[in-house]
Amino acid sequence: MKTDIDLHCHSTASDGALQPAEVVRRAAGRGVDVLALTDHDQLDGLAEAREAAREAGIRFVDGVEISVTWRGQTIHVVGLNITAGLAEIGKELERVRSGRLNRARRMADDLAAAGVPGAYEGALRYAENPHMVGRTHFARYLVEAGVVRNTQSAFHRFLVPGKPGYIAIEWAQLGAAVRWIVAAGGQAVLAHPGRYSLSARALDELVGEFKSAGGEGIEVVTGSHSPDQYALFGEMARKHGLAASRGSDFHGPGEGGEFGSLPALDPALPAIWDRWVL
Ligand code: AMP
Ligand code: MN
Ligand code: MN
Ligand code: MN
Repeated sequence: MKTDIDLHCHSTASDGALQPAEVVRRAAGRGVDVLALTDHDQLDGLAEAREAAREAGIRFVDGVEISVTWRGQTIHVVGLNITAGLAEIGKELERVRSGRLNRARRMADDLAAAGVPGAYEGALRYAENPHMVGRTHFARYLVEAGVVRNTQSAFHRFLVPGKPGYIAIEWAQLGAAVRWIVAAGGQAVLAHPGRYSLSARALDELVGEFKSAGGEGIEVVTGSHSPDQYALFGEMARKHGLAASRGSDFHGPGEGGEFGSLPALDPALPAIWDRWVL
């Protein structure tokens, strides 16, 4: 039987559009047999997803995607198999996400100054938990308000460095995020390295620091990578002695990464799940 291992996705506990159980049912329906839910800085969706996975008969991995600031840039670190330390990580994450509501006010002020009013209330309508409000909720509001056609174009014209609606925020430190994951008995994976605007040299330094801190894997096959990037980051994993990971980064129907649509990892690469009992 073909195995579809998907180790990166989001629910309404962070910026996904579907409830945790709906995410699991969608993944299972599209052929995923091992799934990690990895909400941003938030563990609230795990219990519901775990139970839904049991009902659907698929294997579930407790995950998280931690927001990190590295040299002034936002980097994402996925933590997998953090089951043994959920309470401890949960405590640390409370601090990581504490700046979101205030950032949202400032984002909305910036958007208003650029001619888009009502974004604070608008974005909050999409956030199940106001303290988890983020850029994706703003992107959905910009679509609803008719300012942009889809969430992808919201991230071209707004919400990114240099564009209206972007407000920098200080997230966790790289070493700390990896440490929390390792202390929980989990594996730290550098998420979607192709998404960062770093020079080749800075990216190499990031991966080196990540590995020294205890990081074990790099996302090679993920929703926002091109086939060229699968090869590039597979090579980078090999060079640094890191395992490869794979995950759709599903957020919602029609919002980019989708379950059951990614190619398999190159079987020549060591995979992050090689040592798991599946
Ligand atoms: P935040 O944690 O609130 O800063 O939001 C980060 C989230 O915004 C990411 O996890 C993605 O869901 C979304 N995002 C950021 N950049 C893009 C992009 N270029 N295209 C689509 N979604 C993006
Ligand atoms: Mn997201
Ligand atoms: Mn991410
Ligand atoms: Mn993600």
